[in-house]
Amino acid sequence: MTNLSLGLRENLKKHFYIYWPKIERVYQSKDGTYKFLILLEDGQVIETVLIPEKDHYTLCVSSQVGCSLACTFCHTGQMGFVRNLRAYEIVSQVILAKKFIAEQKLSFALRNIVYMGMGEPLLNWSEVKKSLGILLDENTLNYSKRRITVSSVGIPKVLEEFARSGLAMVAISLHAPSQTLRKKLMPKAARYELSELIQVLQNYPLKPRERITIEYVLLKDVNDTPAHALELVKLLKKVRCKINLIRYNPWPGSPYQAPEPERILSFEKILWDNNFTAILRKSKGDDILAACGQLRATEN
Ligand code: SF4
Repeated sequence: MTNLSLGLRENLKKHFYIYWPKIERVYQSKDGTYKFLILLEDGQVIETVLIPEKDHYTLCVSSQVGCSLACTFCHTGQMGFVRNLRAYEIVSQVILAKKFIAEQKLSFALRNIVYMGMGEPLLNWSEVKKSLGILLDENTLNYSKRRITVSSVGIPKVLEEFARSGLAMVAISLHAPSQTLRKKLMPKAARYELSELIQVLQNYPLKPRERITIEYVLLKDVNDTPAHALELVKLLKKVRCKINLIRYNPWPGSPYQAPEPERILSFEKILWDNNFTAILRKSKGDDILAACGQLRATEN
């Protein structure tokens, strides 16, 4: 930058440097999903997943290296917590994916971003907040908040702050219709009472057409029976939401199985019969361990 004075350049060099995380390895699924193993400055590795939709890509970004919550059905949870990502490391995942799309001349653009990769975003709220600010800024990436979703197990106090910030849409990883079952499946997340979380969701500030997304992973004979569906209906009756059902994606050594299709259909039907919008999310990238709950940042 020879248009800057030598003194200023020396000063900049003394105080700042530019570093880019690197895509270390790319896995490609037969369904067109890409999983990137991204190497960070300190040698840690995270995973980011680029998912093809009908006419665009969605990028699933990580917010932490590992995760401290150790949900029993989640592969990331089994690796423990290593560290929080810095805002630039979160934003870099988006920039690297856009660069990859351009270099590979892929046919769609990146339209949606979901904070659903490794980590619990609200346990790294200050950096996640900064990263959202950068993604939304019209002078940088200029995303619309409607195109970004932050997924959380629901940490009531931070969730309230996130809601007030209005920086992105929200998805809640609920996965159980009662505190007792949630304690078994997500023991650390269940340190926060379910009743408190539901209270926050009932008061969540939403525009007329907006809904909270509830994520519910279906585990065979654990949380997938008609009784569980009815319990879920009761729990969410005052929450303005739509429900995403996810058929469990097993990983090597996982303690759960995926339910049979009929079980899933009857669960979904009970929700529809009770006036909920429920959608079975088609899992993508499960052959390269890139689907929901399968990320672990290993050379597999
Ligand atoms: S499901 Fe989310 S919060 Fe739970 S262990 Fe996995 S990454 Fe962490």
